[in-house]
Amino acid sequence: MLVYNSQTHKKEELEPIEPGKIRMYVCGPTVYDQIHIGNARTFLAFDVIRRYLMYKGYQVTFAQNLTDVDDKIINRANETGRTAAEVAEECSAAFIEQMHRFGVLDPDIRPRATHEIEAMQEMISLLIERGVAYPVPSGDVYFSVRADHNYGILSGRSLDQMRAGERVEVNDEKRDPFDFALWKAAKPGEPSWPSPWGDGRPGWHTECCAMIHRYLGCPIDIHGGGADLIFPHHENETAQAMCAWDSVLANTWMHTGMLRVDGEKMSKSLGNFYTLKEVLDKYPADAVRLLMLQTHYRAPLDFSFERLEGVAGTLERLQTCARNLRWAAERSPQDGELNDADRALGTQIDTAREEFCRQMDDDFNTAGGLAAIFSLVTAANTYLADAADDTSTAVCLRAADMLTELADVMGIGLSRSAGDDDLPAGLVDLAREQAGYEGTSAAEAAEVLLAARQQARAEKNWGVADAIRDGIGALGLVVEDTAAGARLHRKE
Ligand code: AMP
Ligand code: ZN
Repeated sequence: MLVYNSQTHKKEELEPIEPGKIRMYVCGPTVYDQIHIGNARTFLAFDVIRRYLMYKGYQVTFAQNLTDVDDKIINRANETGRTAAEVAEECSAAFIEQMHRFGVLDPDIRPRATHEIEAMQEMISLLIERGVAYPVPSGDVYFSVRADHNYGILSGRSLDQMRAGERVEVNDEKRDPFDFALWKAAKPGEPSWPSPWGDGRPGWHTECCAMIHRYLGCPIDIHGGGADLIFPHHENETAQAMCAWDSVLANTWMHTGMLRVDGEKMSKSLGNFYTLKEVLDKYPADAVRLLMLQTHYRAPLDFSFERLEGVAGTLERLQTCARNLRWAAERSPQDGELNDADRALGTQIDTAREEFCRQMDDDFNTAGGLAAIFSLVTAANTYLADAADDTSTAVCLRAADMLTELADVMGIGLSRSAGDDDLPAGLVDLAREQAGYEGTSAAEAAEVLLAARQQARAEKNWGVADAIRDGIGALGLVVEDTAAGARLHRKE
């Protein structure tokens, strides 16, 4: 399995540190607001990477922090008259809620910066002892980039190049403009913790590094985040690990491309800034996932509502195909000998899985993986249309299960039933009114209504047929006529 390593700029064979196990860490959000769809792109990409590693049989341990102490949180607290802890708590809960709506799996470990102060202070003390960090009179502690001969190893830039190319803040207390704060002295009214260097709070880069060391051990297999984190955040993380524990922080560094909206950088001032919540309030999570996974995780992602509208139809095609297969399986008679068409679809099922893995093994090419899923959709649709009611139960079920299995790796949920279990209860009343049905099962009522509609049509009794269709429509369902008969599905 090949994975692109941002540090070496090459695709490399994934070689887990412990056979069969992967330890991975993805930098979590700074919790001062709802996350935006750019953040969501990154979290989704790593969700699918993790799911695929699990699908391949790896035992994955996934850690993600919550940055719950930061200038942005403090500013937001001051603006809104709350404490920083209140802002962080509320936004952490909102983040977790939106991740659940988006279908992103919970991390195995979710440390919060404010609960890890001790581990960070231990690391800072060690760095001071080893001569690569220094406290200054104001109470800050800085990491000395000049003391670290490897500094720049991740981003591939030397300090000289950086100095020539970048504007950096001037600070008299720093020995080098690229030195970064490991510990920040407390300002009045800010959250702070006691420390050997005075009251203060940890720097952002310190947080992830100390948590990785504490919860996963160094090095880990995979460290991820958006490409904007390579410098300085990840550069600084790896520098600290190297200097504190003589270990690289991660064997493989993975970075996602930035999400753009309508071809432009997303920003509040351009008016093209969207939170994940507002998008999920309007569109199904699986459609948003599908759109994002159509682009390789390293490439910039072009988001637009126009594309999202288009993708809703693509998602529906996948869902309908799986439903049709299960429906055909439930209604077809017991299998006899498999015919040529059955065998051909059987082959397509195996090919789709092989091709899916081939694509995903190539640095998690989700676009290629989706193409493999959709080639099975096309083959299955052709099979269903040609076979009419002479389908093989076993082959239909196997095709539906394969679609469900592969979609699940993408985090896209396909129902494992033909859909009868989530029919609205209103069908029972409608069947009573229109066809004298006396039972209480929505699934039975659906059958009764479709049979009654069929009969009315056969008798050219259009008024009754239309009344049944309209009644069904009012319940949020549509009647679909297929070669193998009529049935119901949900309006999208
Ligand atoms: P932050 O809360 O700003 O640290 O961001 C959380 C995660 O989202 C980080 O991994 C960022 O790299 C990532 N991120 C931020 N903006 C974007 C964007 N426009 N596209 C993709 N990922 C992003
Ligand atoms: Zn981090």
